[in-house]
Amino acid sequence: MENFDVCVRGAGIVGKSLALTLARQGLRVALLPEGAAAAQRAGEDIRAYALNAVSIGLLERLKVWDSLPAQAKTAVHDMRVHGDAAGGEIDFSAWQQRVGELAWIVDAGVLERRLEDALRYAPHVTAIDPARGAPPSMLLALCEGKASATRDALGVTMARNAYGHTAIATRLVAAEAHRNTAWQWFRAPDVLALLPLDTPQGGHSFALVWSLPDDRAQELLALADAGFEQALLDATGGACGALRLAAPRAAWPLMLATADRWCGEGWVLLGDAAHVVHPLSGQGLNLGLADVVALAQAIEEREPWRALGDEKLLRRYARERAAPTWAMGRVTDGLLQLFSRPEPAVQELRNRGMSLVNRLPPIKRWLASRAVGS
Ligand SMILES: Cc1cc2nc3c(=O)[nH]c(=O)nc-3n(C[C@H](O)[C@H](O)[C@H](O)COP(=O)(O)OP(=O)(O)OC[C@H]3O[C@@H](n4cnc5c(N)ncnc54)[C@H](O)[C@@H]3O)c2cc1C
Repeated sequence: MENFDVCVRGAGIVGKSLALTLARQGLRVALLPEGAAAAQRAGEDIRAYALNAVSIGLLERLKVWDSLPAQAKTAVHDMRVHGDAAGGEIDFSAWQQRVGELAWIVDAGVLERRLEDALRYAPHVTAIDPARGAPPSMLLALCEGKASATRDALGVTMARNAYGHTAIATRLVAAEAHRNTAWQWFRAPDVLALLPLDTPQGGHSFALVWSLPDDRAQELLALADAGFEQALLDATGGACGALRLAAPRAAWPLMLATADRWCGEGWVLLGDAAHVVHPLSGQGLNLGLADVVALAQAIEEREPWRALGDEKLLRRYARERAAPTWAMGRVTDGLLQLFSRPEPAVQELRNRGMSLVNRLPPIKRWLASRAVGS
C-alpha cells in the first residue's frame, strides 16, 4: 500500500480543510472518510455556521470562500442579545466595532460541498476507500468528530459534561426582512439564536438554533408545524414578525468536552474530536478551523530534521491551542450557568450586568473582538 506523509481520518469540515491545507504545503495526504452515507448526510446539513475572521481567512487561502454562492454566505452587521428581563440587552454593531462585519453566516451543506469540489482538484490528496482502512503514514490526524472511535481506541479519555440540553436547528422564513441582524435570547434555561441568511427568495430567511432542556426540546420536536411556529413567535416576542418553518427540524445533544491528550507519537486530534463546546457562542467549528491553522503552522515551521509524527512537534500545536479552547469552553459554560439560575436576585444582577455592558463601549469592543476572531 502507498505511503503517505499524513493520513487525515474523518472528512467533516475540519478534516477536509486540513487535507487541503497540508496538500498546499506539498505534503502527500490521504483522506479517509467514514463512508458514502456520512458524505450524503453532511451535504444535507440544515445548520448554518457563524464563522469568524480566522476561519474565513483559511477558507480564502483554500480558494473555497470565493467559490461559495452569494446566497450561501450572509454578513452580520448587527447583533441583538436579550436577557430574560426588561433592560437586559446588549447590541453590537460592525460600525461601532469598526469592522466590515461581525461575522459571516454560512450554509453548512453548501460549505461541505464546495470543500469536496476543491478536494477533487487538489493534486496531493488521495481519497481512500474506507473499506481499505488507514494507509501507512508518518502522521495520523484524527478529525472524526466528538464520537471519534479511533481516539477512544488510542486510550484517550474525553471528559464529558452533558448539559441535559438538546439543540434544535432548522430554517425559517420571517415576515420581516433580516437586515443582516443576528438575534439571541437567553431565556433561562433555553437559548435561542436567529442567524440571518440570504436565499434566492430574498433577505427574509433565518437559521434557527434553539437549545433547551431535553424534555422541553422533545415536546417542541413533537409539535405540528403551526404549534412550533407559535412557540417561536412567543419566544421571540414577535421581534422578527411571524416565523414560518422552511425545512424539517433536526436535533443535537449538547455537551462540554475535552480530550485529556491531544497528541502522541504519530497522532494528533483536531476539531470536535479534541473539544466540544455549547453552540450558544457559535464557536465549535471556528475552534476546529483554528486548530487546522495552528497545526499547519507548526508543521511548516518545524526543524528540517524533525519528523512529521514527532510528539515534540505535535505538542507545540497542542500547547498553542490549549488556552483559547479552554477559555472558550469556560465562557460558554459560564454564560449557560449564569442564565440557568432561577433566583430573582441573580436574574436582576445578570440583566443589570447586560445593560451596564451595553453602555460601556470599550468592554463591548473587547467582547466583540473575541467573537469575531480579530
Ligand atoms: C446546532 C449546532 C450549531 C452549531 N453552530 C455553530 C456555529 O455557528 N459556528 C461554529 O463555529 N460552530 C458551530 N457548531 C459546532 C460545529 O458543528 C462543530 O464544531 C463542527 O461541525 C466540528 O467539525 P468536525 O469536522 O471536527 O467534526 P464533524 O462535523 O463531526 O465531522 C467528523 C467527520 O468524521 C467522520 N467520522 C466519524 N468517525 C469516523 C471514522 N471512524 N473514520 C472516518 N471518519 C469518521 C464523520 O462521518 C464526519 O464526516 C454548531 C453545533 C451544533 C450542534
